[in-house]
Amino acid sequence: MEFRLIDRIRERTAQGREDVKLGIGDDAAVVAPPAGQELAIAIDTMVEGVHFPHGTAAADIGWKSLAVNLSDLAAMGASPAWALLALSLPVQRAEQLGAFIDGYADGFAQLAQPHRLALIGGDTTRGALTISVAVHGFVPPGKALTRSGARAGDVVLVTGTLGDAAAGLQLLRRGARVDEGDGRATYLIERLHRPTPRLSTGLALRDRASACIDVSDGLLADLGHICEESGLGAEIETELLPRSSMLMASFDEVSVRDFALAGGDDYELCFTVPAALVAEVQSDLARLGCGATRIGRMVEGAGVRVRDAQGQWLEAAQRGWDHFA
Ligand code: ADP
Ligand code: MG
Repeated sequence: MEFRLIDRIRERTAQGREDVKLGIGDDAAVVAPPAGQELAIAIDTMVEGVHFPHGTAAADIGWKSLAVNLSDLAAMGASPAWALLALSLPVQRAEQLGAFIDGYADGFAQLAQPHRLALIGGDTTRGALTISVAVHGFVPPGKALTRSGARAGDVVLVTGTLGDAAAGLQLLRRGARVDEGDGRATYLIERLHRPTPRLSTGLALRDRASACIDVSDGLLADLGHICEESGLGAEIETELLPRSSMLMASFDEVSVRDFALAGGDDYELCFTVPAALVAEVQSDLARLGCGATRIGRMVEGAGVRVRDAQGQWLEAAQRGWDHFA
């Protein structure tokens, strides 16, 4: 692949780290994992038209392609260190490709730099616009948060607010633009394009959360994974679901509820905590800047059940992101 393009990526994402012995530019990167730590490794692929709409700005794609991976590390309680990037780019005129690469690398770097994440290598080919990012993070031995440790009686919590990203996608499909209106569309579309991985929350949950997952496919689907892996059920209350004022001001009550329950792309953390620890965990997380809301509890049984404000059980099939596809 053209070296000029790779050089542009390298320049724009430069991040000095002592543990990177050899970064972009050789046949393989060489890193020195810290003694006494375990490696947490994740990869996610994004395809234009499937994982982000056609016409999404290159910088937003750069940010989000890293954010979804950092969110996976957050859900494991790991701290990020290194990334690999595989880019498949459509054949375009050279200057268009250059502009895309610059925008992509800038969006990527905007998120990578505050976390001191180093891009250490990758691969670049021609093809449909497809981006795979792999990340590596550190976690103390045996301390990774998993989906499988929840106990009956544990409280279910979620960070931030739910449903904003799915609402943003809906607005884009209706032709909304970020620069119109009173800021509501801007906020919701930003939540879609620029999710915030909850890394410091993930670290704070080590030793305290019994299970954790990031909400990428929608709360019902992702909490469903905790249920399956923990051999339990969950009961949640719709009126406890954290929803932004921007979301509530933009859609009717039923849409808001469905976005919060089943909308994807939130990248909040959903986790379970023994009841005795909830108050302490909530005040610690609030101090970190992203609070967490209790939304229900783990119970004997299987699957996620949802109770509405009137105490009625909703039909709670795991709808997930496909519901909106
Ligand atoms: P090779 O043919 O030996 O696999 P490449 O020409 O594909 O080497 O890559 C040259 C160098 O550039 C390698 O260090 C590789 O990791 C890096 N690289 C290639 N594409 C990217 C990319 N999209 N992002 C970051 N590094 C890349
Ligand atoms: Mg080679």
